[in-house]
Amino acid sequence: MKAVVYHGPGELRVDDVPEPVIVEPEDCLVRVTMASICGSDLHVLHGLMPEMRPGTIIGHEFVGVVEEVGAAVARFRAGTRVVGPAAVWCGRCRACRRGLPMACEKGAIFGSGPLFGDLAGAQAELVRVPFADTTLQPIPEDLPDEQVILAGDILPTGYSAVVGLNPGSRGVQAGDTVVVFGAGPVGLCAVASARLFNPAQLIAVDMEPYRLALARDLGASAVIDASRVDVRKRIYELTEGWGAEYVIEAVGREGSLRDAVAVAAPGGCLSVVGVFQRPTVLNLPRMLAKNVCFCIGMGDLRNIPRLLELVGTKKLDLGRLVTHCLPLREAVHAYEIFAKRVQGAVKVMLIPGEG
Ligand SMILES: [Zn+2]
Ligand SMILES: [Zn+2]
Repeated sequence: MKAVVYHGPGELRVDDVPEPVIVEPEDCLVRVTMASICGSDLHVLHGLMPEMRPGTIIGHEFVGVVEEVGAAVARFRAGTRVVGPAAVWCGRCRACRRGLPMACEKGAIFGSGPLFGDLAGAQAELVRVPFADTTLQPIPEDLPDEQVILAGDILPTGYSAVVGLNPGSRGVQAGDTVVVFGAGPVGLCAVASARLFNPAQLIAVDMEPYRLALARDLGASAVIDASRVDVRKRIYELTEGWGAEYVIEAVGREGSLRDAVAVAAPGGCLSVVGVFQRPTVLNLPRMLAKNVCFCIGMGDLRNIPRLLELVGTKKLDLGRLVTHCLPLREAVHAYEIFAKRVQGAVKVMLIPGEG
């Protein structure tokens, strides 16, 4: 089968590789009908994922059709359309029982190398999905692939940033001023999700005008172009000197994290889903003076069924984030479009078996 394979830093190829097989009784094989490229795939491509081995299939965002099920799989049979989670979890271990599937002792992220469970990626014609009954979700009929594919990773990440990243943590409350740093795919999902909780103001910050325009379409009440405007000053103007009760960082850079700390209101919450690559300095004196709470983490993929519901009832409509669709065999070109953000790229899809 064809698959997108990592060959070392900066090098990707579409290769012919052996098809996966059922290994464990809880596995499903899924025939991928659409896969998408994620910001974290670029980290893999650029050699920033430790221990990543050349020859690994990458990608962790996919929808498809169940092709074959292991003996212990009860919820699925061949032919069911499913959306895959970015990572799998067992549902039974200590972490899973405490509501932390992302810390599952047997968990794995697709296409992310041995450090993350050594599970082959999903930018391929077929993918093996462990713990299928726990992790795969059936797609409601009548929802096309491009409407649901984001529900497997970036939407749960943006949504989790809004409802709280830590079990029991404070999510966005009605009447909050919410600031979202970063109007990339995850930040835009956070904007769309935050809107569901009736914030008083919803402010998006980015440096790309087309992404800020999308943030407005998805419900931002104000947008700030950080390349032209003093972000902190503007947020304090918009909040009459108070700051924002809820600040989401979806960039993963020190500069925006510093801004996020600076604009948090007293008693506010910082919710960080940006993917940081190295230790980063936090202004703790400033945080101490404001009694802020700081939460950082990965999205809770157990939100996928709820998100499919919100997509199905059109409360969340993220189809416009899907800006490009290319055959899987053109993956190298697709990665370029995504990485360089050409032609207003937000999310770039790969279609296996096309052409
Ligand atoms: Zn992703
Ligand atoms: Zn587990």
